[in-house]
Amino acid sequence: MAFSAADLTLLRIRCAACGQHTEKLVTVLAKRDSIPCGVCGMLIDLKTPHNALLIKETAESCARIGVALTKIS
Ligand SMILES: [Zn+2]
Repeated sequence: MAFSAADLTLLRIRCAACGQHTEKLVTVLAKRDSIPCGVCGMLIDLKTPHNALLIKETAESCARIGVALTKIS
């Protein structure tokens, strides 16, 4: 089975409408422009500078971990 770290990494995105956090897999977030808030149902924009950077950096660090794990095994 080919797992990457990103497949298992949850990222918490803050809803601008209600202020609560919704957890999604990084791999899901990286493919989407928005996700529905798990609390109030409003769409959370993933393309804001803050969210886009958070998702990008988390995905990249997951990729680095994946490469490191591959080298060990
Ligand atoms: Zn909300």
